[in-house]
Amino acid sequence: AKRAGRNTFQWFDKALNDEVNRALLIRNTVQKGLDKQQFHLVYQPQICLEAETVCGIEALVRWRHPDIDGLSPAEFIPILESSGQIIPLSYWIMRQAFSDWHKIKPYLAEGARVSVNVSTVHISRSDFIEQLERVMLETNIKPSDIKLEITESMMLRNAQTAVATLDKLADKGIAIALDDFGTGFSNLRYLTQMPISDVKLDRSFIRDIDTHKANQAIVRGITSMSHELGLKIVAEGVETLSEKAEVKKLQADIMQGYLEATPLRFEPLIEFLTKRHQ
Ligand code: C2E
Ligand code: CA
Ligand code: CA
Ligand code: CA
Repeated sequence: AKRAGRNTFQWFDKALNDEVNRALLIRNTVQKGLDKQQFHLVYQPQICLEAETVCGIEALVRWRHPDIDGLSPAEFIPILESSGQIIPLSYWIMRQAFSDWHKIKPYLAEGARVSVNVSTVHISRSDFIEQLERVMLETNIKPSDIKLEITESMMLRNAQTAVATLDKLADKGIAIALDDFGTGFSNLRYLTQMPISDVKLDRSFIRDIDTHKANQAIVRGITSMSHELGLKIVAEGVETLSEKAEVKKLQADIMQGYLEATPLRFEPLIEFLTKRHQ
């Protein structure tokens, strides 16, 4: 038993070591990645369920890393958040998404916006709004074209400052979506205290929604509550026709998922939007 224990420990130690090395590699190469244009954006269409139109797109970052195959944002974003390096990357993402937007918007439904994910560490900085406005000026984008996706975790840290910042953004006409709703420590009070326009239901509720009675009940409840508060529901990760039928039945307003479209680079996105119009 002792021996097995030691082996387990050694294995764990090695795994941990590899993880630390990967994190170090990621941190040490992000600036070079920015300089060498290793980052790009993909855009995932969002479908308004009633009209069946593309009524928004979400920008998602990709890093083609020379030394790490298939590096996912789910891995590198948290690492760059903890080192603070997310901030220069985040400005790059906003600048890129906002400049691409002018060429994408004509293909979308009236009132469509480009959604950008913003990290807790970023939005809670005191100069966030000023910097965001600078990028908006540079890229000539209007507040009514932008939606920022935030997660609940940011509220836990610094509720007072976070609310104040979000209020200012909303006053300017920038929309705010609450991402990954239902995961982590959901506080329903956020729904009334934050100037939120959309609630994005986490994929874990949508997976197997067509057969999973308990998830149907949860989604039905969150949806009716959100509607009473004047919020729209976005169903994330809809992969099958029967999941789509179910989220429609449960009164979700918007869907996003592989069934309609995977996240696409700029050119394929334009192609997708052109075809969908015909
Ligand atoms: P998220 O904001 O919840 O983004 C949705 C994720 O679900 C994306 O993963 C998207 O590709 C994936 N997805 C969309 N539809 C489906 C589906 O039908 N099935 C499945 N299985 N997955 C689907 P991605 O691009 O790997 O991003 C992972 C996470 O990394 C994001 O989760 C977000 O938290 C973070 N992230 C990605 N891009 C950015 C960014 O530009 N800035 C920041 N701060 N975070 C980002
Ligand atoms: Ca998101
Ligand atoms: Ca999400
Ligand atoms: Ca399924």
